[in-house]
Amino acid sequence: MQTQTYTPPTNADYDEIGKFTRLADEWWDKNGAFKSLHDINPLRLNWIEDQVVAHLGTPLMGKRVLDVGCGGGILAHSMAVRGADVLGVDLGEENLQAASIHAAKTGMADTLKFRCVPVETLAAEQKGQYDVVTCMEMLEHVPDPAPIVQACFDLLKPGGVCVLSTINRNPKSYLFAIVGAEYVLRLVDKGTHDWHKFITPAELDSMAVGAGFSRFDMTGLHYQPITKRFWLSNRNVDVNYMMAFVKPE
Ligand code: SAH
Repeated sequence: MQTQTYTPPTNADYDEIGKFTRLADEWWDKNGAFKSLHDINPLRLNWIEDQVVAHLGTPLMGKRVLDVGCGGGILAHSMAVRGADVLGVDLGEENLQAASIHAAKTGMADTLKFRCVPVETLAAEQKGQYDVVTCMEMLEHVPDPAPIVQACFDLLKPGGVCVLSTINRNPKSYLFAIVGAEYVLRLVDKGTHDWHKFITPAELDSMAVGAGFSRFDMTGLHYQPITKRFWLSNRNVDVNYMMAFVKPE
């Protein structure tokens, strides 16, 4: 009799993950392939901390934080520097190696850990254990974002804060995030993004509300190519944006 081995389906696209692991030795080169993530990091870190203060009453210091799709740990590291106890997860081994080496080099390895595990698996293992869950610039690279959002919800303590970021899907985001960022300004590598996988704020909101979240705040992330300045403004969320959600008590 033939025995069949069962492999659980993984909600991951390894062609997408390969776009990042191929460049893993550049994660901590501030002028390398991930320059834009380094450039926007102080802005998004402050916005995340503002959401945490607004909802949980105190800053990141001492909070238990999970960063989903952490890559080389740019955001995870900065949250640990602010005093949080951070776990970063990703499915690209090479990304996590770069992240761990950098954590050790900077003396952060006690409060900044990394694991290669699907977030859906982690949710079954560590349900309700985190004060804050972040998932930045990842949802547009997965086959089905809704179960990831659900896992983020499940991992949070009641009252916990979740911050998600992605790219809107409309003609302007095609022009700015694909033509502008990949071909004209070369802010990111060509082929990094597939416009069809971008997510509108209404879609993200409905996934989050479907998972059980209540919406808390939203902002757009903007770039001016002449002055090379990034800034946040909730006047429009036409291209890059972040949304914060709260898990009801
Ligand atoms: N969040 C980081 C990195 C964004 S790049 C930052 O904003 O700085 C996107 C990351 O998502 C890559 O590291 C890639 O390996 C990871 N990724 C893609 N699909 C994933 C999945 N299903 N589970 C976990 N990580 C994933």
